[in-house]
Amino acid sequence: MIRIAIDGPGGAGKSSLAKAVAKRLGIIYVDTGALYRTIGVYMLGKGINPSDEEKVSANLPDLKLELKFIDGNQVILLNGKAVGDEIRTPEASMAASAVSALGSVREFLLMTQRNIAENNSVIMDGRDIGTVILPYAEVKIFLTASPEARAKRRFAELTAKGIETTYEKVYTEMVERDKNDSTRALAPCVPADDAVLLDNSELTAEGTTDAVLKIVNKEIKQRKKKFNPFYRVCRILITVFMRLTMIIKVTGKENIPAEGGVVLCSNHIGIRDVFLIGITYPRQLFFLSKKEWFKIPVMSSVMRAWGAIPLDRGGKDVGALKNAVVVAKKGKTLALFPQGTRKPGINPKDTQVKSGAGMIAYHSHADMLPVCIKTDGVKYRFMRKIEVIYGKPIKYSELGFERGSVGEFKDATSKVFDEICELGGYSSLPSDEGEQS
Ligand code: C5P
Repeated sequence: MIRIAIDGPGGAGKSSLAKAVAKRLGIIYVDTGALYRTIGVYMLGKGINPSDEEKVSANLPDLKLELKFIDGNQVILLNGKAVGDEIRTPEASMAASAVSALGSVREFLLMTQRNIAENNSVIMDGRDIGTVILPYAEVKIFLTASPEARAKRRFAELTAKGIETTYEKVYTEMVERDKNDSTRALAPCVPADDAVLLDNSELTAEGTTDAVLKIVNKEIKQRKKKFNPFYRVCRILITVFMRLTMIIKVTGKENIPAEGGVVLCSNHIGIRDVFLIGITYPRQLFFLSKKEWFKIPVMSSVMRAWGAIPLDRGGKDVGALKNAVVVAKKGKTLALFPQGTRKPGINPKDTQVKSGAGMIAYHSHADMLPVCIKTDGVKYRFMRKIEVIYGKPIKYSELGFERGSVGEFKDATSKVFDEICELGGYSSLPSDEGEQS
């Protein structure tokens, strides 16, 4: 699955671009502006001022909006009836801009937009797709062009449709709409931190499509890459070493997702856990590791190539967590030990888990994968039997996220950790019997 967010001001060519890219990739194009336009036109039709929050909100419950895709084309059903070109007039544009500044309207449309991207690869255009609707989109483009270039294009578009107007009127309305959209308090039209900025004032429509396809294809290629060359070599060497010093049994490998972002969680017995997972997991792992390792010159490069993300364990390292989110968002696997520190010999079900894994899954929209490492002893010793058990992934939609609160992060992490204990048969052991010699 891939989700592509295209944001930017009106007239930048977002819809033509999104349509062309959707066609080339065989994915769905979602035009979110049409939803705001439909609400704007509905309110105008009822004689309601689209900026009147009270009246607009009061009338929203009468409005049933459905999004359908017929032969790849988006159709909006307003109370069961398909809307047409009446939402494309300059009045509809201004009404859409007005209703889109209202919190009740944005809330009303939020899930309609998110739900489509839940089970489909989509390219979605709008103003807040990369920042609010799909912050976990794999590719984000902020498309813009000079106001003159955009007004010229919009004027040609309207004239071709037989709508009478002048360039000056289109230009003035465009500048006004830009101002409304980019300065409003709610979901303003601004680029997401991780968006690629593309100014197409000097580009043709084909040139813009090619530029975006290049970015998307690079992303797809990157996501398909299983290991970087250094990781691959290290993995072989470590496999040889580990297989010569331990008896390793792996079960449940069929549960490992072949692609997509994963937050892998495991119980933590010893330093070798990360290598055990690394050599048995068929994709490259990324993990957080204390930043002291990165202060050693050669070690720093080795650690980075091995997928380590520096973490300051002293306090809340927001930067490290952000990097971890990016990893999972980019379709990679982030491995975490929710117990925090190593707990050899203690029944994992008796330990506390932290909330970080759930938080990273929430922000990256990744599934969580439980892994249990089970030994026949407290610590790793020469030729000890070790079992690495991969459980079934818990889908993002099953993690119970609603508002993204710390409580929800903790619950999601606990849910995965309970599964880890279940996999290892620890849940059914009385608390003190988890301890082994
Ligand atoms: O993209 P389009 O010109 O059809 O959008 C119409 C209006 O809807 C925009 O001016 C903007 O105010 C609003 N809009 C929005 N958020 C979106 C899409 C559109 O606020 N995601």
